Amino acid sequence: MNYHSKSADELRATQEDLRKLYDALCAAGLTLDLTRGKPAPEQLDLSNELLSLPGAEFRAADGTDTRNYGGLRGLPELREIFGEIFAVDPANLIAYGNASLEIMHHLTTFGLLRGTVDSSQPWSSGPVKFLCPVPGYDRHFAITEQYGIEMVPVPMNPDGPDVDACAALTAADPSIKGMWAVPTYSNPTGVTFSAEVTEGLLSMPAADDFRIYWDNAYAVHTLVDEAPTPLPVIEMAAAAGNPNRVYVLGSTSKITFAGAGVSFFGSSKANVDWFVENIGFATIGPDKVNQLRHARFFGDAAGVRAHMARHRDILAPKFTTVLGILEDRLAESKVASWSEPEGGYFINLDVPDGAASRTIALAKDAGIALTPAGSTFPYKNDPHDRNIRLAPTFPSIDDLQVAMDGVATCVLLAATETLLSAHGS
Ligand code: PMP
Repeated sequence: MNYHSKSADELRATQEDLRKLYDALCAAGLTLDLTRGKPAPEQLDLSNELLSLPGAEFRAADGTDTRNYGGLRGLPELREIFGEIFAVDPANLIAYGNASLEIMHHLTTFGLLRGTVDSSQPWSSGPVKFLCPVPGYDRHFAITEQYGIEMVPVPMNPDGPDVDACAALTAADPSIKGMWAVPTYSNPTGVTFSAEVTEGLLSMPAADDFRIYWDNAYAVHTLVDEAPTPLPVIEMAAAAGNPNRVYVLGSTSKITFAGAGVSFFGSSKANVDWFVENIGFATIGPDKVNQLRHARFFGDAAGVRAHMARHRDILAPKFTTVLGILEDRLAESKVASWSEPEGGYFINLDVPDGAASRTIALAKDAGIALTPAGSTFPYKNDPHDRNIRLAPTFPSIDDLQVAMDGVATCVLLAATETLLSAHGS
């Protein structure tokens, strides 16, 4: 029954039943974790062939000895494959280290200390702000918070960030220098940006040195038959008269090995040259052996997509399990809503206002770890205290069933508390 139409007495009776379920849950002594979007061991196993590549064939197609220093832009054969995946001209795509987050961190510190190709001064010579579509990715927000960049939340719609809201802010405030964006199967909402929204973000009025961090971490991570076609954002930005606005980022962290993959950076020629010039002070070259084995392992972009279909076989049943439990346990009560993503790594759960931290605390006491309340917002501040990010990829289906059933009990119990306090009892 819809909890909102229950009387206070009915809510109290429901709460008593839920308490019993909750006490039984606590007595079960669980230790389950739904916090981080990590690949499961069976997903990592899909790439085990990498462990014996490249073997003695350590020369790249152009004869480069991958064991030696050099090659700051990364191996051409791997850039060719991922250029197609990210819709970036391989000439303007760099294959770098093992973490795209590291590139985002570099881009931010370079901007702060040295400015960009369009800055007359370093960003840090004045106030610096970044637009942050919410809910969003906590590690993005952590980078900007770490460097004292003011984060300005902007609403996320079903087709991407609210462009009018973004444009009103960037047009009025030249200290807005950046924007976080996850264009495909966004973390945590699962939203994919439409072509119109993308066009709007690339063409809206903003400071010359305003940059969109186009973090396409989930470009090929589909749970349905086909991933969305990536948009050629670098060309689109150029056509909109803002050729240097967009930094494209991505990696194979959730394609091959999360800790031993390859990251990518694509942008205009000017931005890429600038990035290479700056990273030249940090490294003499990336791990080309790793890049070569990735190129051999995939062969081509179709090889990447075929590999992702094998991930999908493992992940789709997990997402179905979680969504099924949410539907069975929560739909009738009308106290929660959730995303039904077609890809990516997360399910986004919204509980009644004021009930997220209580739900998470109840789950924690029952041995179920959920991402801390507020994590999906800048400064960990969810103004409505209602958003919970669920990460179903790592646990086994059996563990997911137990954990999600427990989470549902916690959501319902917290909801009865919130509703009863609204009743004044
Ligand atoms: N961007 C997003 C949106 C992510 O969700 C993640 C992983 N959780 C990353 C980046 C991390 O990528 P990498 O391993 O390449 O640093």
